Amino acid sequence: MAKENRSFAVIGLGAFGQTVAAELARFGNHVIGVDMDERRVNSMASVLTATVILDSTDEGALREAGIERYDVALVAIGEDIQASILTTMNLKLCGVNTIWVKASNRTHHRILMKLGADRVILPEQEMGRHIAQMLNNPVMLDYVSLGNGYSVVNMAVPERMAGQPLKALDFTGHDLTLLGVMRGTEFRPAHSRDYTLEKDDKIIVLGKRPELRSFGDQI
Ligand code: ATP
Repeated sequence: MAKENRSFAVIGLGAFGQTVAAELARFGNHVIGVDMDERRVNSMASVLTATVILDSTDEGALREAGIERYDVALVAIGEDIQASILTTMNLKLCGVNTIWVKASNRTHHRILMKLGADRVILPEQEMGRHIAQMLNNPVMLDYVSLGNGYSVVNMAVPERMAGQPLKALDFTGHDLTLLGVMRGTEFRPAHSRDYTLEKDDKIIVLGKRPELRSFGDQI
């Protein structure tokens, strides 16, 4: 296994597991896909480094597949909560270093944390919060939450600002930091302030949510 890339075992190849596994493989990682459904496994065989058909509630089957050799395991079994819990426990028993698990609800989440999962994800809730933030602030195209109310956001520059210098963006009265401008896929840091804004430019701004919202309303 190449050491510069990390190795991942994705257990459960539903829509969520398949997406994560395929993306990890696309980034150049070693990824094994695990599912007890042969058709799901076959459909991922050409995308992933390895695939195996097994029931992950069976600890022996996981050991046989050499699951402990993987740096990270992701349990992406949603509907069958019992199978998800047993799989997480088995991964712990096998000594897998880092275990991430997709949960279906808050109770499931609590149980998985108690079992020692390193990270428990509630995709619907997390995505729902993300979507609500963007609907709440229409110029916000996307954002990354940094914790403690801070976010870095990607904002659309209004068309009327095209042709104006970057410093025409007025942050007065807002406790915000302009990090830079995205033009297509190219990033220009904010310190190159002689920059002229163009239509479709996006600005990358750091700050707290209410400040970002009122700045969004202003521009
Ligand atoms: P999605 O990601 O599509 O929303 P989901 O949350 O509904 O999926 P499921 O469909 O319940 O999750 O499970 C995802 C995958 O996990 C399925 O392909 C299923 O075959 C597989 N799976 C469920 N239980 C086990 C198990 N014990 N061992 C191996 N794979 C399993």
